Amino acid sequence: MRASVLRDGRMVYREDVPDPVPGPGQVLVAVRSCGICGSDLHFAAHGDQVLTMSAQAAGGSGGGIEVDLARDVFMGHEFSAEILEAGPDTETHPAGTLVTSLPVLLSAKGAEPIVYSNSTLGGYSERMLLSAPLLMPIPNGLDHTHAALTEPLAVGLHAVNKSNIERGETALVIGCGPIGIAIIAMLRARGVESIAAADFSPKRRELATAMGAHQVLDPAQGSPFDSVKARVVFEAVGVPGIIDDVLRRARPGTRLVVAGVCMEADAVHPFFAIAKEINVQFVLAYTFEEFAESLRSLAEGDIDAAPMITGEVGLDGVGAAFDDLADPERHCKILVTP
Ligand SMILES: [Zn+2]
Repeated sequence: MRASVLRDGRMVYREDVPDPVPGPGQVLVAVRSCGICGSDLHFAAHGDQVLTMSAQAAGGSGGGIEVDLARDVFMGHEFSAEILEAGPDTETHPAGTLVTSLPVLLSAKGAEPIVYSNSTLGGYSERMLLSAPLLMPIPNGLDHTHAALTEPLAVGLHAVNKSNIERGETALVIGCGPIGIAIIAMLRARGVESIAAADFSPKRRELATAMGAHQVLDPAQGSPFDSVKARVVFEAVGVPGIIDDVLRRARPGTRLVVAGVCMEADAVHPFFAIAKEINVQFVLAYTFEEFAESLRSLAEGDIDAAPMITGEVGLDGVGAAFDDLADPERHCKILVTP
């Protein structure tokens, strides 16, 4: 079958990938849509760094990501799919049901994240395996392209939940890439009445408005902190220096949620945070319940994901799409539709 795989830092189109065979508790599905995630771009460019740091974060206890970069790597964790057949002794929804799922494959060996793997297929494939207990049928006739945004929007929902924001509090979202946009959409769905968003890119500010920001700011025209009195700040840029800048400029008592993924060492002046008793919360991923709520928000029309989808490619176009996504002016989410 067809798939796009990571080989020597590039996405390569293959037509000779063996079809996966579902084991007990597993389901074979045909991928309908899979979003390209910034973390996939980063892994393609700096896979060795990701593996080293995940091993360090695991504290030498094992449990880091086990991937051999000298072999082909399967990726794609933001997918919707159609059920083809269940493995032995496996009860699931009928064939033809459209589903999404947490990107985790359960097997006799345990739970393996569907993120980067030499053996477990991801969503950049014609077909893949999912776990019957984790499947979520796509309700209300929601289109499979929109359903593929369940995962990235769940990331935004988790950041919002971790902030404990209340409707009357002002939120400032710094950075309007896919993560910032997901946070904005979820703040709006939550009913937060004052959402400000900052990004240097006019295209991204436009998208922030379309997805629910009440006010957008260009940091080139002055610090957003000069005009927005935010109680909760979401950092969704992930470059060195940004956290220190927020600590320096934010109001006393600010709650800072760090959702940007910075892979480099970064210096902060603790005194800025001490002097203003700033609360800093780092966030990752989502819970099963948040994933389900994200799907529900899409299916019930609380969030219209259409403006986020800025491109669609086949499996043979994934390599070019990875290159295109480097330009923030042009894209938010490109979907791979096998
Ligand atoms: Zn992702």
